Formats: sequence, structure tokens, C-alpha cells
Amino acid sequence: MRVGVLALQGDFDAHRRRLEELGAEVVLVKKPEQLDAIDGLVIPGGESGTFLKLLGEDGFEKLKQFVRLKPTFGTCAGAILLATEVENPKQAGLGAIDIRIRRNAYGRQLDSSIREGRLLQSSVNNKPASPLEMVFIRAPKIEHVGTGVEVIATEGDDKVAVRQGRTMAATFHPELSEDTRVHQAFLDLIGTCGPHTLVRRL
Ligand code: GLN
Repeated sequence: MRVGVLALQGDFDAHRRRLEELGAEVVLVKKPEQLDAIDGLVIPGGESGTFLKLLGEDGFEKLKQFVRLKPTFGTCAGAILLATEVENPKQAGLGAIDIRIRRNAYGRQLDSSIREGRLLQSSVNNKPASPLEMVFIRAPKIEHVGTGVEVIATEGDDKVAVRQGRTMAATFHPELSEDTRVHQAFLDLIGTCGPHTLVRRL
């Protein structure tokens, strides 16, 4: 299974290490044409506004087509990029997952923190709900989820990881914790979508 990690900026290397540890072949994606040769993509944390600038219009369009066809997992800034609606400030989203997300939603005090949340039992985790360490860094908040969106992890009252069809998004950084379950869930999702298969979105 060949998994791309968008490597324009941000913490792509921690994702690369984690995916390799779990047995995936990893491609660091720096050019749009590299998207043609991968079975799934991770969009890492960073600064979502900067991602948009670095992608440019063509890169954004190419990525938009990709996320409609192949499994994609966005963490933090990556989750912001995948959303249908972005606030604070408003900016373009790829519309791959029907959520409204607010950037930098925790304010200065809670800027960055490690908290214990819950990984729920869901279509990507067949085990009962259990605690999960979550690293938040200038995290966004998912303010609204559409009807086709499944919540896969929570922290307090907040929905912090979601899935719709072949797209997953988390507002925290699973690549910075020891626990490998979230990345494994994404690799399993790629497995069920199957390389080069088109699966209808939920
Ligand atoms: N605050 C960043 C943004 O709004 C996201 C932070 C992160 O990816 N750790 O894009």
C-alpha cells in the first residue's frame, strides 16, 4: 500500500515515520502529479492558510479531485483543508468532509495541550470506546457536522475526529503520540477502499 504525505510544510515527517512503522510505503508528496501514484494521502498539521498559498489554484484543484476519489486523512491544518466550511477567518476548503470548522478555536490559554479523549467504537474501530491521548496545537474546533459524518473520537464535549466516506479528519495530532490506532484505522480504511477502487461516498 503506497501512502502519500503532503510535504509542502508542517509536521509531515512524524506522519511518515508512523506510517512506515505500520508497514506502509510512504511517498512525500511535493508535486501534484505524485498524487496519481498513491492509494491514500495524509495532510499534516501546519498552517492551513500557508498550505493554500503553497498549493496555488492548480494544486488546490488537483487535490480536490484526489480527495473525491481516494482515502485522505487530515490532521489539524489538514482537517481544516478538508472541511466544507472554514471560519476565523473564512477560507476555502476542499469540501471532502461535511463539517464547519473554526481555526485557532481554543484561544491563547489552551493554545497547546495534551489531553485524554476517547476513541469511539465506529466503522473504523471495532473495539469498545477507550481512552486516547490527544496532542492539540493551536487546534481548530469542529463546530458542526453534517448528517453523513460519523464521529470517531471525542474530547470532553468536542467532536475531535470524524469520518465521511473515505475521508478522515482529526483536530489533534495522533502522529505525536505513541498510540498507533488512529493511523492504523486510516490504513484499514485505505484497505477497504482498495487501491484504485472507486467507492461511493457515504
Ligand atoms: N492553527 C493552524 C491553522 O489554523 C492549525 C494548527 C496545526 O495544524 N497544528 O491552520
